[in-house]
This record gives sequence, C-alpha cells and structure tokens, in this order.
Amino acid sequence: MHIPYADRLSPQTVQFLRSQPGRLWIGGRWRESLNGHTLTKDEPSTGQPLFTAFAGDADDVDAAVQAARHVFDNPNHPWRRMTPYDRERLLHRLADLLETHHVQLAELLTLENGKPLSAAEAEVNASVRMFRYYAGWPTKIEGDVKPVSIPHRLNYTLREPVGVVGAIIPWNFPLSMIAWKLAPALAAGNCVILKPAEQTPVTAIRVAELVQEAGFPDGVVQLINGLGETAGAALTAHPGVDKIAFTGSTEVGKIILRASAGNLKRVSLELGGKSPQIVFDDADLPRAIAGVAYGIFSNAGQSCNAGSRLFVQRSAYERVVAGVAERAAGLRVGAGFDSGVDIGPLISREQLERVSRYIVLGQEQGGVLRCGGTRPSHASADGYFLAPTIFESVRDDMAIVREEIFGPVLVATPFDSLEEVAARANDTTYGLAAGIWTRDIGRAHALAALLRAGTVWINCYSQFDPASPFGGYKQSGFGREMGHEALELYTQVKSVWVGL
Ligand code: NAP
Ligand code: MG
Repeated sequence: MHIPYADRLSPQTVQFLRSQPGRLWIGGRWRESLNGHTLTKDEPSTGQPLFTAFAGDADDVDAAVQAARHVFDNPNHPWRRMTPYDRERLLHRLADLLETHHVQLAELLTLENGKPLSAAEAEVNASVRMFRYYAGWPTKIEGDVKPVSIPHRLNYTLREPVGVVGAIIPWNFPLSMIAWKLAPALAAGNCVILKPAEQTPVTAIRVAELVQEAGFPDGVVQLINGLGETAGAALTAHPGVDKIAFTGSTEVGKIILRASAGNLKRVSLELGGKSPQIVFDDADLPRAIAGVAYGIFSNAGQSCNAGSRLFVQRSAYERVVAGVAERAAGLRVGAGFDSGVDIGPLISREQLERVSRYIVLGQEQGGVLRCGGTRPSHASADGYFLAPTIFESVRDDMAIVREEIFGPVLVATPFDSLEEVAARANDTTYGLAAGIWTRDIGRAHALAALLRAGTVWINCYSQFDPASPFGGYKQSGFGREMGHEALELYTQVKSVWVGL
C-alpha cells in the first residue's frame, strides 16, 4: 500500500506501517477480528487511504472480557499478586519505551490525526509524563484505620481496584486519551480493554505493542479497534465489565450511561464543551489575544476544552476581536508534516462537512463572519482543511453559540458587567472549562467562583498537568481525570471489621 508522506517518515514508522496487519490484541495474542471485518482509515491532509485495521465486534469483546476476568478473578495471577513496587516499575518501563519511540509515536499521531508534528511531539511528551506521574502512585494508595466507637472492634479500609475497565476514547488526542485512562487504571491494579476511535486505530496498536514489550502480563491490557456502535456498545453492555471510562460526545455519553445500567457499571464521562473566554478591558490585552486564539484554534478547534465563546468587555471589544482575527489570519493551515504549520486539517470529511454546515447556519441565523469560514486556498484541495473562523453579531440563542462545533470556529460578543457575563457564560448545558483575562485579582477570583465549569484558567488557557484534576460540570460529564482524584475512579473502598 502507498504510504502518504513516506519520504518524511523515519524508517521505523515506514516499517511499522508496512508490517503491521492491524490486528486486535486479546489475551496476549495478536488476532484478526472473528468476523473478519476491517475499517480503513484515511490520511486527513490528502484524503488518501492510510491503514486498514481489523474491526472487533461483540464476539471479540467477549473474548477480551473473558481474558481479563481470567486475570482479575484469579487471586494467584501474577498481576493480582504483583507488589505495588513492581507495578511502579512496569509503569516506568512503559514510560521509558514511549520515550524511546517518541519520534515514531509523533509521526503516527500526525499521520492518523493530521495535527502538526510539533503538537504531536508535545502530546507524546505529555503522555510520558502522565505514565511517570501514575507510576509514582501504586506505593501510595492507602486505606486507613477508622476511629469507631464500638468497644473491642477494629475497623480499617482497603482501597482496591474496581476490576475490568472498558476505556472508550475519541480521536482528537489519540495518545493522551490512552494515557489519561491507562496510567491511573493500571496504577490501581485494574485490567483494561481499550476501544479507540475508529478514526485513530494506529497509535493505539503501537502503544499496545509497547505495553507488551514492557512486560505487562497477558490480558491486563487489551486492544479492540472497531466501531462505537458495535465494539463500543458491546463493551458497555457486557456484564463482565466493571467500569466504563469514556471520553467523547455528550450524545454518546448518554447512550453509554443507559447501556451500562444492566450490571450497574461504574461510569465516568468526560464529554463535550462550549467553554467561555472572558476578557475584561483591564487585561494584558496582547496576552489575552494570544491566549484566546490559542484556546480556540489549537488542534484545529477539536478540543473538548476549546474556548469557543469569546466575551469581551465593550470598551475593549473591537481591539480584542481585531487582534484575534489578525492572529487567525496569520496562522498557517497545512499538512502536519509541513514545517511552520500551526493548524492541521480536521480529522475527516464528515467532520469538515459538519463544521461547514455550522458556518452556513451561523450566517443564515444572522451571524457575521469576521474572518475565515472558507477552506484555505493554498492547502491541498483533497485535505480536510478549514481556515480559522470568527463570527460576530451573534445572539446567545443561536445554534453556533449553544452547540459544540468541534472545529476552529469562535463566536465573539461584547459584555458590560461581571454579573452579566457570569450569567451568560453559564447559560449553556456544558460546563467543562472557562478562561478569565483581567489584572484585577479580586474580580478574577470572584468570577472563578461564579463560573460553573470543572476548570477555570485565569490569565492563561489550556494548561494541563498530571497532578491537576480535569473534568466536567453539568452535561460535560462527571468524574475527574488526572491528579489523585482519578484514582477514585479506578479504586473502590472495602471496610474491614475485626472483633478483638
Ligand atoms: P464520539 O462520537 O462520542 O466517540 C467517542 C468514542 O465513543 C469513540 O471511540 C466512538 O467510536 C465511541 N462510540 C460511539 N458510539 C458508541 C456507542 N453507542 N457505544 C459505545 N461507544 C460508542 O466522540 P468523537 O467524535 O470521537 O470525539 C469528539 C467528542 O469528544 C467531542 O464532543 C468532545 O468534546 C469530546 N471530548 C471530550 C473530552 C473531555 O475530556 N471532556 C476530551 C476529548 C474529546 P467511533 O469512533 O466508532 O464512533
Ligand atoms: Mg464517532
């Protein structure tokens, strides 16, 4: 098969793409899907076919669940008997391998997702840090002794893994999303069955190979590429799965919650957003302008935390919007492997069409384009490119203001007072993140307290660290990933009473 950008890739990446038959990894064996189905994935900057992966179905999911249960339900299995110290060493070994193969992993990310190579490199580094952070945890996950008031009784708690975890993830950060789920789940001693997005099966296969090379016992981590409606749904409904960790759209999150009811799985959901960026007139405006542009246009706007609603205090409105529009015009849109590119293509033709429909709808409903809205003329006609886009003259009830677009589209509107902007920023079904730009620290903290969002960034945006929890308010989901908070998702507490 022809490999797009073969001349830009390292020999290891070319070799991997030529030799890798796209198998599922179940019970420590690389297998074809039982029904032989496959999915073909294209390269987003050219639209050319890139990779064919086997697509698992309910039977493959069942085989993986059985393999995981075989591990988890056997108290003598090496994974169940492994000391916390040895679990830490395994996680560090995996982090070492990700680091060793960082060039190849970044190339695979850029190939299948389209993001600029520099962004892919940053994603690999962040994922290594995630595994290292959670590698530090196994020896620190503690129970405690409770001060009960019943005479001659001792009561203590054990913090134990939940069991078999199904991790269902999106395509926008294919490696980070694996790291966010796999690292804490393994640190806590669970088994994980990973179902990547159908648009990004490739990086996950390489990660599974590295998990194997690191020496995790067979069946502890398994990989089932496949469609959400089949493989994802089977995992969600399976009675042998104890927990689903999901990142994706709010719409699918609701389906997952309903489908997990059969055996009352634990469910954590990281869903969509329509996050506000709020700029006051006393802010460091050049910095705010740069932060607003970065917050919406990085990853071509395909970030759950994209700052997609811009509110600017009226006296600074024109200056800030002009500044963001100028930056938008200066951003280079192109293929992720081209040097100097700031924004890659969208993930798929379907996504380009979806975002383009919003741009038409926004104009029909009275929004006015300040910039963008078109496909950039210099970029390849077959790629899924879209210029950074800003809408003005929007009303708070318009679809482009209320719905998650998941593309490089910003809606801008003026405001007058803190109370007004707090109410309008909160007037959304989502609550993932928010940005505040001001030099007045009292105002910044007061507004941070008023905003109903899981993360608030003051005079910065899109900052992530393994130590800091991330997750949604309202319909942006529940559960917190990263930090010690994520360990709550992957452990459960047992209370033990002893008669003395
Ligand atoms: P999606 O369509 O909801 O898909 C997410 C995952 O769920 C994919 O693996 C998908 O498989 C699978 N899936 C689809 N239908 C399913 C079903 N009925 N049962 C079980 N699994 C199913 O989301 P997406 O389009 O890939 O990603 C974009 C969305 O993710 C945005 O809404 C974004 O805000 C959100 N997101 C949130 C966060 C966060 O941390 N909160 C982070 C990143 C992205 P297929 O690939 O086959 O559809
Ligand atoms: Mg989908």
